[in-house]
Amino acid sequence: MAKDRDKYIEDELKEIRKQCEELEGIQLVTCVPDIVAMIIKKTDFRQLKLRLMFPTHYPNELIISELSSKTLSDKLLDGLQKVCDDECKKFIGKFQVMKLLHFVSKFLDDHKLCICSNEIAYVKKEMLKDCDEIKLKHKTGQIVIKVQQDKYFLNFKLTIPEDYPKFQVQLEIIDHNFPELLKVNFEAQAVEYARQCVEPPLRRKPGDPPFQPKPSMLPVCKYLIGDCIKNYPLQKCPVCFAHVLPENPLEETSREKQVERVYCGHLYHHSCLAVYMKTPPFIGGKKCPSCDKRIFHEKWKITPELAEARWAHKQARERELEEVKDFMA
Ligand SMILES: [Zn+2]
Ligand SMILES: [Zn+2]
Repeated sequence: MAKDRDKYIEDELKEIRKQCEELEGIQLVTCVPDIVAMIIKKTDFRQLKLRLMFPTHYPNELIISELSSKTLSDKLLDGLQKVCDDECKKFIGKFQVMKLLHFVSKFLDDHKLCICSNEIAYVKKEMLKDCDEIKLKHKTGQIVIKVQQDKYFLNFKLTIPEDYPKFQVQLEIIDHNFPELLKVNFEAQAVEYARQCVEPPLRRKPGDPPFQPKPSMLPVCKYLIGDCIKNYPLQKCPVCFAHVLPENPLEETSREKQVERVYCGHLYHHSCLAVYMKTPPFIGGKKCPSCDKRIFHEKWKITPELAEARWAHKQARERELEEVKDFMA
């Protein structure tokens, strides 16, 4: 029996060596009766190592397999391990190694999202509510998310590039009912966060460790879902304390009630911000009452000195008018 087993395994090893030579993306590391080890590599990140051992009663029992990877999550590997064992059960009594190899290889081809499985799990568990939707397109590496808050929604698509996380996730906004200006902000800021994950900062300190690209899918989702969609419909204007966005997204808004987004991310009504920016104190620049950060906005780019001068002028003018009124009375 033992001799039959050894002979059987020798034949299978021969078959493995021959077939692996012709396969692209497969590196046979070890191929001896004690152990077979191979690396299946689709990209630098979508790759794993498969180690196999022949049990005592091989091929009449399941081959012992072990998956490992520096880039794929343990949870994903655990799940894949279970389906691999189920798959191999179909081939008990036959050569099992190549069957398993093809199965794992196909899994990596068909699951381009496996590289960000942890990030997807986090978004699903921690960020999305029952009213939201997420669709995973494993074959093309795309994720479509629809998030809602009150009557507002944003529908967006993320594409995970082949060499993720080395390259940043691509964002496309499919549909939304926020003011157009905010949508432009959402998109620009999200793309910027993604870029920061993969490109080293311009100014680096001498002692900084070498820059490593980081996964960008989760930062983009945290920003779009957490900071924008789930937050803005609830945000109140720091000046008048009413909701900044109208309750009904379709409502026509007057110029005064138009939304302005300042550098710190807080939203204001246009007219409220206009008054606030022209009212003292000006020293050290106008600060956002919600977070105390300096307010930067394209429409109000004036120095504290100029604002102060204008304010003084307006006050003087009002005093003059008062005096005139007194005189007339
Ligand atoms: Zn307001
Ligand atoms: Zn603020």
